[in-house]
Amino acid sequence: MSLINTAFIITAAKAIQKTIVENEATLESLDREIGDGDHYINMKRGAGVVMEMEAELLPLTADAALHKIGMKLLSTIGGASGPLLASFFMSMGKTLKENGDDSHAKIAAAFAAGVEAIRQRGKADVGEKTMLDVLIPVSHAFTLAATQQHDVRLICATLIHTAEQGMLSTKDLIATKGRAAGLGERAIGHIDPGAKSCQLIIKTVCNLVLNK
Ligand code: ADP
Ligand code: MG
Repeated sequence: MSLINTAFIITAAKAIQKTIVENEATLESLDREIGDGDHYINMKRGAGVVMEMEAELLPLTADAALHKIGMKLLSTIGGASGPLLASFFMSMGKTLKENGDDSHAKIAAAFAAGVEAIRQRGKADVGEKTMLDVLIPVSHAFTLAATQQHDVRLICATLIHTAEQGMLSTKDLIATKGRAAGLGERAIGHIDPGAKSCQLIIKTVCNLVLNK
């Protein structure tokens, strides 16, 4: 049985858009402090683009919808984060198509493939003060929890907590990738905007799953 469907992906995009808008002040100020201030706009545009695709996505299977979302994000969100997030969705869609989505372990594997695509495209890893400081630990926690066959409530609670820890970990780091890399020690004390938006997105999607 399939565990993801396209209607859920669209519901998630709407919930993500709402979360991004509710956190406008936070996301704007984080990217103004250590970037160029456009991260909020980029993320809002990305979620909005997915919502506008609703009619063309609905007839598709979840893997095809995710792949199509990735292609569209590639041409619509700007900044460093646009192509990185686009590669996440394209790889996640491709892996779901190959392996199916009938277990949490398969969804975790597809999520991990998406994160790996970001890591390769961004040439970055944990500890460089980017979105990967959230996504890599979350991916590892997801794989572990899913292969241990934890129940979905425990998986979601673990992912929300891991994302929060990863986001907070960026505060004390020096950036070695992205715009903030030029700031040296001046970046210390500021949370990375991409890490914050990824943490918010993971929390939003997990809460949707928990309330299903
Ligand atoms: P830009 O940096 O071009 O203004 P955004 O403001 O939308 O684009 O996104 C900035 C975020 O992108 C950063 O906070 C960081 O999390 C992420 N990022 C930047 N470069 C990389 C990279 N090489 N690998 C992974 N994530 C990155
Ligand atoms: Mg920016």
